[in-house]
Amino acid sequence: MDKALAKERLRGQKCPYCGAEKQALAYGNVENDRIEVFQGVGCMICEKQFTEVYSFCRVILTDYPGEDFRVYFNG
Ligand SMILES: [Zn+2]
Repeated sequence: MDKALAKERLRGQKCPYCGAEKQALAYGNVENDRIEVFQGVGCMICEKQFTEVYSFCRVILTDYPGEDFRVYFNG
């Protein structure tokens, strides 16, 4: 498969296999190992799957009163 084409489709939030729009993508549960975050995605048009991987970089304590409280995990 053409990596440049897959990248272009993913940047546009499309299926990397068939180019279906994001409305056709079903996102699964998020798994987090404190280094990376993994999310399985299924395409309802071509029925293929892929996994999006994100860097786990920070936590925002949204219930901490009075200030913007963030804990960073960079490096
Ligand atoms: Zn597809």
